[in-house]
Amino acid sequence: MPLAPFRSEPTLDFAVPSNRQSFEKALATVRDRLGRDYPLVIGGERVETPERIESYNPAHPEQVIGRHACGRPEDVERAVGAGWKAFPGWSRTPIEERAQLLLRAAQVVRQRRSELAALMVYEVGKAWDEADGEVAEVVDLMEWYARQALELKDRDRMAPWPGELTEFRYLALGVGAVISPWNFPLALATGMMTAAVVAGNCVILKPAETSSTTAAWLVEIFFELGLPPGVINLITGPGSVVGEALVDHPQIRFVAFTGSREVGVRIYERASRVHPGQLWLKRVQLEMGGKNAVVVDETADLEWAAQAITAGAFGFQGQKCSAGSRAVLVDGVYDEVVGRVVELAKRLRMGDPIDPEVTVGPVIDGSAEEKILDYLQIGRREGELLLGGGHGPGDGHLIEPTIFAGVAPDARIAQEEIFGPVLAVIRAKDAEQGLAIANGTDYGLSGSYFSRDPQRIAQAKDKFHVGNLYINRRSTGAYMGVHPFGGFNMSGTDTKAGGPDYLLFFVQGQSVAERI
Ligand code: NAD
Repeated sequence: MPLAPFRSEPTLDFAVPSNRQSFEKALATVRDRLGRDYPLVIGGERVETPERIESYNPAHPEQVIGRHACGRPEDVERAVGAGWKAFPGWSRTPIEERAQLLLRAAQVVRQRRSELAALMVYEVGKAWDEADGEVAEVVDLMEWYARQALELKDRDRMAPWPGELTEFRYLALGVGAVISPWNFPLALATGMMTAAVVAGNCVILKPAETSSTTAAWLVEIFFELGLPPGVINLITGPGSVVGEALVDHPQIRFVAFTGSREVGVRIYERASRVHPGQLWLKRVQLEMGGKNAVVVDETADLEWAAQAITAGAFGFQGQKCSAGSRAVLVDGVYDEVVGRVVELAKRLRMGDPIDPEVTVGPVIDGSAEEKILDYLQIGRREGELLLGGGHGPGDGHLIEPTIFAGVAPDARIAQEEIFGPVLAVIRAKDAEQGLAIANGTDYGLSGSYFSRDPQRIAQAKDKFHVGNLYINRRSTGAYMGVHPFGGFNMSGTDTKAGGPDYLLFFVQGQSVAERI
């Protein structure tokens, strides 16, 4: 039966008392499940290791979220073997069956929606609506890739040739590594992993250490659904050990990575080496960081712009690759927009995101906190501190929403990804210069342009060089299946997650001609 057309999963409105109550209940249920032990998953078996890594609550660093097996290179070896053992069967499983698996998984995620979101509140410090939005994105990814997989089958129509029966078809690649970050711990692991698997591949998921529990819960869903052993393997552990062992392994066919530029570039270099016994050039996708700008010209709706700047800079504490960490304002509206953004940012409530009123929670860990505090010192030298600038109250990794104004376009805080709640405000003499400043970094992920003038909007569409361009809206909040996501330049390989071509990364085309 044909599937209904794709539709984005609606998010929950927490102003509705019943939604609020059921989320409170989920937070309590999940609290009782914190601190458990989680093994590796290799070939469908649970594998313990002598050492463990812990993930903890960044709002309360003494609270352990999960104790995870700490993978070793020999575990990577076994997982790659388990993947190849499963591959012949899985890659020949009809694509309709593989798509059905994703649709069933989407159904389970819908049922466990509040629990999964609650876990992310504890493990990575997401505010309620951010966590719920991420679970909705997971459903979208599964529903979208299921449909895309079925369409892959229909892309095979080639021109006829006399005397030949011709065919063009897509084959799965083999066994690949999926290396995911902590900031969208459920959605990014899901996106890369399900796209690979629905296309017929087997994967080894290596999640970020700080969000290992969310990844373990995700993998559990697929096991409960009866996925054949070895199709999805989970190796938790340090990136420098198991991540690297995966990337270097000669039997790894592809690497799908989302994370920092530093690690992405390292993976790119290492994956290009051909090791003895390796039969292919590894295929690599890398989705990395951003230093995204929101440009506001003098024709813009300034209230919209100020709201979008505030939400884009401080949502999830600025820890989104698409965060609008630069506001580029033309002379005529500079003072008004800055003033309004400061006013709006002052109203943000900082604290433990278990509280529904909190919009700015903790940053992910102690080293992120230190790095951001260093940038706050740099910012004091490079701009005028208008708001924040320090540590938040308590023991959690809280950083105040911070605004520096009068920042030069080439200042470090205007060029480097800080990945925290820090906004650099830059003055431009006009719209043209504003766009040049916006394009003047190594990155090219997302960007916003605010204007009411159709010619200016056309100019922005022509010149603003980013993978995700938004006109008159914030730089964050891409919907899968609606806004295919991925960046230019040092933001990555632009594979466009949630887009019409994403699955092509995970397959190879074969042309077959039979003489008749
Ligand atoms: P990170 O690069 O530190 O880690 C990402 C993953 O790589 C983790 O699983 C980590 O363990 C692993 N890793 C670390 N060292 C490795 C190595 N040497 N070899 C192989 N794997 C290794 O990134 P992070 O701190 O988890 O995530 C934040 C970064 O991710 C930010 O830069 C953000 O902009 C970026 N990001 C980009 C996108 C996008 O779609 N472009 C989305 C989300 C996050």
